Amino acid sequence: MEYLPIYLELKSASVLLVGGGNVGTRKARLLLGAGADLTVVAPDITQELADLLEQSGGTWLQTAYDVENHRDKGLVHLFGHLALVVSATPDRRVNKHISDDAKAHGIPVNVVDSPDLCTFIFPSIVDRSPLLIAVSSSGRSPVLARLLRRKIEALVPAAYGRLAEFAGRMRAVVKEKISDPSSRRLFWEETVEGTIGELVLAGREEQAEKNVLQQLQQHEQSPCGEVYLIGAGPGDPDLMTFKAVRLLQSADVVLYDRLVSEPIVNLARRDAERIYVGKARADHAVPQQEINQLLVDLALAGKRVVRLKGGDPFIFGRGGEEIELLAHNNIPFQVVPGITAASGAACYSGIPLTHRDYAQSVRFVTGHLKDGSVDHDWSQFQNTAETLVFYMGLAGLPIICEQLQTHGRAADTPIAMVERGTLIEQRVLTGTLETMVGIVARENPRAPTLIIVGDVVKLHKDLAWFGEA
Ligand code: SAH
Repeated sequence: MEYLPIYLELKSASVLLVGGGNVGTRKARLLLGAGADLTVVAPDITQELADLLEQSGGTWLQTAYDVENHRDKGLVHLFGHLALVVSATPDRRVNKHISDDAKAHGIPVNVVDSPDLCTFIFPSIVDRSPLLIAVSSSGRSPVLARLLRRKIEALVPAAYGRLAEFAGRMRAVVKEKISDPSSRRLFWEETVEGTIGELVLAGREEQAEKNVLQQLQQHEQSPCGEVYLIGAGPGDPDLMTFKAVRLLQSADVVLYDRLVSEPIVNLARRDAERIYVGKARADHAVPQQEINQLLVDLALAGKRVVRLKGGDPFIFGRGGEEIELLAHNNIPFQVVPGITAASGAACYSGIPLTHRDYAQSVRFVTGHLKDGSVDHDWSQFQNTAETLVFYMGLAGLPIICEQLQTHGRAADTPIAMVERGTLIEQRVLTGTLETMVGIVARENPRAPTLIIVGDVVKLHKDLAWFGEA
């Protein structure tokens, strides 16, 4: 993070604005809106700015900026008390001067359109006061920030401000009645998202208030939390479902393993506890039984627990085992499907898993080694019109290639290995059952990798996404 977004209390604070053109006027409106005591230094100002200053009791010093020559006018003195300086003059030299003066006095300064002269920047704002949403591109692309702001404007109903106001009013009484912070958060989530929230948005605050008081009376602090077993998809955070993101953001605790990428874990609330439970092939950081038990213990302690799994929880994810113990202990849970690695890697590498000309079925197979051998009846994979997808097959690749050939698949059957599918670093290696072991030894792909076998692999060179070959 290059900047820390904070919200500054400016009520009655002295703020200096240099420049009184259209840009200066816009900044003045913003600063006065936050209650600043504004002094404007400029030889000329717009009529709108003059009106704004008159309404707010602000001051206009009708002169060009020159801190040295402003002793008599009190500017030097003012610098000792300023909370902020904003410069909106078109003259780079003057701007630099102002920036230097402010910095010398340790006052935060913003120079419009000159990030290098700023110690703070203005975000784009969605104002649903008291709800405020600020968006910034750290000075890189104000246009992009404004575009995003417009999207948020459309997304957040104007009445949300009222909802925030209402919540603020009820905050103390709710806090008094529900002392446990996590039950309180649950109560608020249900309130804001449910009928009470709807009542406020419809302008019926009085009824909403009655409902809150009623619910507080009825509120039994249930000791039992809930577990969400969530498929996080194969890596690209954009491949998560809305439901997955929504539930993830409601979690008190998040358990995740190696296959879940960092940007996905970062979608959790900042104050949510994060527990890494490992799980690479040779890195069983937390044994499965302990994970299962941990889910139960956390839920019994009243937490909302999210167990994030790579891909889909019910495809080679041991999701079934994890919820078995929950069901046994009568703990409420939900399972949220995710895009499995086969789907993600296939789509992102231009290899359709089925195709009318090449494959009429697809089979997901584990390539996990048990005592050095892959545990399959290989004769079941002879059908050339079936695509085979091997999960966890990197170490077992030589056995897979050899056994498929021994059991009826031709040596020149196309095969692909998709390394880190759907992620920025995705790489696709292609060859045949005969050549692939050599290719992989040379290219040394990193886990996770997925193996796709069958004629559909031929399509990769034509259908691969841009950037791929
Ligand atoms: N539940 C997961 C699979 C877990 S098994 C799912 O539905 O996708 C772990 C195996 O999944 C890895 O060994 C690898 O074969 C595959 N895998 C998971 N993510 C992958 C990715 N981004 N790229 C390639 N393979 C991946």
